Amino acid sequence: MTHPEFDTLSVRAGTRRSQFNEHSEALYLTSSFVFDSAAQAAARFSGEEEGNVYARFSNPTVTMMQDRLAALECGEACVATSSGMSAILSLVMATLQAGDHIVASQGLFGATQQLFNNILTRFGIETTLVPATDLDAYRAAVRPRTRLFFVETPSNPLTEIVDIAAVAEIAKSAGAIFAVDNCFCTPALQKPLLLGADVVVHSATKYLDGQGRVLGGAVVGGKPVLDEVFKFLRTAGPCISPFNAWVILKGLETLRIRMEAQSASALELARWLERQPGVGRVFYPGLASHPQHALAMRQQTSGGAIVSFEVKGGREQAWRVVDATRMISITANLGDTRTTITHPASTTHGRISAEARALAGIGEGLLRVAVGLEAVEDIKADLATGLA
Ligand SMILES: *Cc1c(COP(=O)(O)O)cnc(C)c1O
Repeated sequence: MTHPEFDTLSVRAGTRRSQFNEHSEALYLTSSFVFDSAAQAAARFSGEEEGNVYARFSNPTVTMMQDRLAALECGEACVATSSGMSAILSLVMATLQAGDHIVASQGLFGATQQLFNNILTRFGIETTLVPATDLDAYRAAVRPRTRLFFVETPSNPLTEIVDIAAVAEIAKSAGAIFAVDNCFCTPALQKPLLLGADVVVHSATKYLDGQGRVLGGAVVGGKPVLDEVFKFLRTAGPCISPFNAWVILKGLETLRIRMEAQSASALELARWLERQPGVGRVFYPGLASHPQHALAMRQQTSGGAIVSFEVKGGREQAWRVVDATRMISITANLGDTRTTITHPASTTHGRISAEARALAGIGEGLLRVAVGLEAVEDIKADLATGLA
């Protein structure tokens, strides 16, 4: 994971120039493409000749974004989608059929859980959720029709770390595809494909754009799986808009610099939070006190930009910290240059039952901060008001 190579790919990979020789990547706002002749149209449609046909299938701006992200994740191929959720849906629709089974880590993004538990079940696909860190539970969950392993690491909001290489082994011996949602770390901090995962999915809405502007998603991995994802996408249509792809393409150029700066601030903030008398446990993989610190430092280059912590006293005290902020944005979103704060128990995880929440370790005093690019002293000061 050498920086010079990553940095060069971030700004150069995938770039294609038109006849005008533009320096910055062009935004192609066109829904269709014309052919030189009837014969060329036929060849394009049959796939005999490569080239653009219709923007549900491909668009040059989207292709540039896909190629750049594939290069950064060290994947053979990438398919961009309209959102992170449509990336996950496309993967599932492309690889599974009725009767198949998914093994997934607990603590997945809320909509992913709902997709698996409430929607896929209507189509005869069942999911077993296992504790993110319990390798035996992954093994025990395997059924004859297990076709997909799906994990998120670090988990949200408790930052539990899934051992990617170990789960890759288990998935492989089960004959299943292993997918990692790499939204929180991004390829700047973690490359699941190099650790044995078959597929990476992204909500590009988060750090890949990085500035809270557009929705987008992506599936990255080996060509055979991505060919299937592409077939689903070109038929079913959850493709990304060229404008959104262009925004994300430019966002990738600053990805490592942003991720490293935001991670460094997150580490400093986590260490500071550990010293505050009003704070209980602090959840951050970069802290020596994190139960899987060693594993995190093996598979990630830093702890990431998300810090969760328990405010002593429960919901009332936690809400006081939220409401006392003057700068930090109160929003459930993350992956922005602006720091955000969320009370998971009443927002992102509010729809799951109180028992399920307690089981997942998401207490009433828990807050999640996604650290942005502001001066870390200002972030501390903003949290200190409510903690005082
Ligand atoms: C936001 C998010 C998603 C869904 O992405 P959208 O772009 O909102 O559809 C999936 N996984 C994780 C980890 C996320 O944070």
